[in-house]
Amino acid sequence: MNHRDDAAALDRDDPLASLRDQFALGRDTIYLDGNSLGVPPKAAASRAAAVIAEEWGDGLIRSWNTAGWFALPKRLGNKLAPLIGAAEDEVVVTDTISSNLFKILSAALRVANERDPKRRVIVSERSNFPTDLYIAQGLIEQLDRGYELRLVDHASELASAIDENTAVAMITHVNYRTGAMHDMAALTRIIHQAGALAVWDLAHSAGAVPVDLNSAGADYAVGCTYKYLNGGPGSPAFIWVPKRLQNVFSQPLSGWWGHKKPFEMSPEYQPDDGIGRFLCGTQSIVSMSLVECGLDVFGQTDMATLRRKSLALSDLFIELVETRCSEFPLQLVTPRAHAERGSQASFEHPHGYEVTQALIARNVIGDYREPRILRFGFTPLYTRYVDVWDAVETLRDVLATEAWRAPEFAERGAVT
Ligand SMILES: *Cc1c(COP(=O)(O)O)cnc(C)c1O
Repeated sequence: MNHRDDAAALDRDDPLASLRDQFALGRDTIYLDGNSLGVPPKAAASRAAAVIAEEWGDGLIRSWNTAGWFALPKRLGNKLAPLIGAAEDEVVVTDTISSNLFKILSAALRVANERDPKRRVIVSERSNFPTDLYIAQGLIEQLDRGYELRLVDHASELASAIDENTAVAMITHVNYRTGAMHDMAALTRIIHQAGALAVWDLAHSAGAVPVDLNSAGADYAVGCTYKYLNGGPGSPAFIWVPKRLQNVFSQPLSGWWGHKKPFEMSPEYQPDDGIGRFLCGTQSIVSMSLVECGLDVFGQTDMATLRRKSLALSDLFIELVETRCSEFPLQLVTPRAHAERGSQASFEHPHGYEVTQALIARNVIGDYREPRILRFGFTPLYTRYVDVWDAVETLRDVLATEAWRAPEFAERGAVT
């Protein structure tokens, strides 16, 4: 593509173009970081006001019943289910990915141990998001039963690392740094052939790429609602457990919300039947309520349509960076093959941090991940083809003028 007009023409033909109006995105902002924190749906502000003034203010304690607060984790779980190939009553929205991983890894290890007590290995990738690895390490220490975390350096080594000693393979579907995507069905088959259980992290998949957990035969999954699902900062995560595994074991954080009859106030824990047993304690209702506003936008389209535009956006971005910024040391680290790519494009640059800051100063918001990686997420609900064009032109200018060398762009905040 050689002209901005060509990008504008793609926007005119875009079947998703009208959905952008449903997001509160500043006119001058090019936002390529919806993979880290989604943009607020316009409906979120009025929903938050209604939850506070009407449900909390007028309804007070009655709202646990009358406003459906108590049922929210399951109701929203059912609303999210179609996006990830889950059936009714297999998903709850609750807690964080970190705490949910602790729950399902514990449940998975107990199932694996019941089947074959010799298996003492959890397999994952060294490049996995750190919290996933930390949680596995913490659980192994807590259990103190000789479990081991085996990490591979390349995805291609997974198949040989998963063997007769493997209890669980804990795999993040789309890598947060490179955007590389696993073939969920194929890898789950390999994991099952080795006799192990497959735990999937969908942080960069839910709402980003089509996912079909049940047809892949996956065993457990967690994911996040504040990234592509636009639930808001720190909005609760989700857990998926298929029906066949829900009642096999209960999770270790046996709080009262996972109890079969929480309001009998029994001194004995008795887990709920079904997915409810993966809850723990009282939920943050205001934040959770806003998750629905993001899901309602997804209800107006489907993942196949979103995926087509997502790939078109990332293809265009890669093409433009490689043609219009070719004299600069930018190296694509995201796979080119569509089947191996999530909804982002990442480039390595020797001064990736400074370049990212210089872009942000010009309202082109991507982010930076160690080491040296500029990361750009593509969110077809609200990103236009002209945004891609303009973002690359800004990148070209920042590199050509060396604007990124200004000393303020080398200063690091607590969050990068
Ligand atoms: C974003 C992300 C998380 C975040 O975990 P929280 O506990 O919700 O903060 C975890 N895992 C992966 C792979 C992620 O991308």
